[in-house]
Amino acid sequence: MRKLPRDHCPRSHTSLTALPIMQYISTRGSAPTLNFEGATLAGLASDGGLYLPAEWPRFSEDDIRAMRELPYPELAARIMAPFVAGSLSEDELGALCEHVYGDFGHAAVTPLVQLNEKHWLLELFHGPTLAFKDVALQMLGRLFETFLERRGEHLTIFGATSGDTGSAAIRAVAGLERVEIFMLHPSGKVSDVQRRQMTTVRAPNVHNLAIAGSFDDAQAHVKAMFADESVTKTLNLGAVNSINWARLMAQVVYYFYAGLQLGAPDRAAAYSVPTGNFGDIFAGYVASKMGLPIEQLIVATNVNDILHRALKDGDYSVGTTMPTITPSMDIQVSSNFERLLFDVGGRDGAAMAEQMRSFEKSNAMQLTNSQRGGASTLFTSGRADQEETARALQWAYRSCAQVIDPHTGVGLHAAQQAKVAGKTPIVTLATAHPAKFPDAVERAIGVRPALPARVGDLFGREEAMVEIPGDYAASRDFVLANASASAN
Ligand SMILES: *Cc1c(COP(=O)(O)O)cnc(C)c1O
Repeated sequence: MRKLPRDHCPRSHTSLTALPIMQYISTRGSAPTLNFEGATLAGLASDGGLYLPAEWPRFSEDDIRAMRELPYPELAARIMAPFVAGSLSEDELGALCEHVYGDFGHAAVTPLVQLNEKHWLLELFHGPTLAFKDVALQMLGRLFETFLERRGEHLTIFGATSGDTGSAAIRAVAGLERVEIFMLHPSGKVSDVQRRQMTTVRAPNVHNLAIAGSFDDAQAHVKAMFADESVTKTLNLGAVNSINWARLMAQVVYYFYAGLQLGAPDRAAAYSVPTGNFGDIFAGYVASKMGLPIEQLIVATNVNDILHRALKDGDYSVGTTMPTITPSMDIQVSSNFERLLFDVGGRDGAAMAEQMRSFEKSNAMQLTNSQRGGASTLFTSGRADQEETARALQWAYRSCAQVIDPHTGVGLHAAQQAKVAGKTPIVTLATAHPAKFPDAVERAIGVRPALPARVGDLFGREEAMVEIPGDYAASRDFVLANASASAN
């Protein structure tokens, strides 16, 4: 970890103690209002909704101008300050940001790379597991530890993964004292790189379970565990999926980081975002609410295009999920979309609860006029099939000498198709390192990307995991026998 002596850290611009305590409300209107600490530990709200700040903090143009040239960790503390007010002191927040972001594989944390006069890539894959999820999960892990220590509590995290989220979550909590993690993956059904990124993390609080079965089976075990009293009466269970507000908050920072380099607050940019659960792009929406000039947010999807259809025609109806070369976007229901619908639809929790109840019954909904109108002022969308994705990889390689991953390719395709005013730069978010998906990259451009040196010994490290049978009782018994923490 890089640590600066305290007097070398420029003083933060606003004092946290002067900021009003931020309250968090649920999109479905009936869960208790919580502060940042409460919302972070709760994850999902008790009424089934998602937590959002009661109001959007807003920076003036001068505030934003004063952020130019801040190193990433200091920018992160500046952006997050209004959201954590009342739960973290200025010093605690500054130290957390320095600790988390001082440790990335690139000194700029999320470097901005120019492709041509118009197109840029924002590289979000310099964290420990080479995907953008590290930027937020590394922060979430430290936040859990801080708040649990304060409360004298422990948390046991359960998750099922088909690959990426599992490894990022494990790396985020490995070695923490108050958090223990059990991660289930379907045995033999994740890639070698993905499995090794989980199983080579050797820490006493990390348990990898390879279950005989599919990803859906693993997910069903997790669901059953949360509903099983023999587990919940002894363990304080938690989840790390992208419904957690703290993850979105951490992602707002890199929109500012890129925007500032491209001339904010005096010049706007457009962003194209490879989208699955709508978390990453919702962070862009938050950045715009906070005052960052954003001309357009382009929702880029693969053929699993429910969001593209919803934004184009107002039709949010679930289809069957098709497997693609961009597995992290093979999603039909985007949980964070509810946050956008709530905010642009006038923040009516009762109406949102009703709309979601009916959606959960019929697997389809029509957006209201105010939701469509509100979304269309900022959002557009684009869709890429497998061939268009491959062509984007080829263009980046041949015309710009950049090897990009297929998820980024979907984003770049949508960026190239978007109607964006002549002089406005378009930033495509590069969400994964190409070496995470070497087969698809090699098929498209004929070059097999190598793992970066800092993780290059992945295949030489020893693995640890437990193979267990596919029935729920086997998962539960393993967890109860091996969990070291009790609820308090
Ligand atoms: C998770 C993920 C996405 C989708 O991000 P959301 O926040 O779920 O929209 C895109 N690309 C990669 C590589 C991912 O891991």
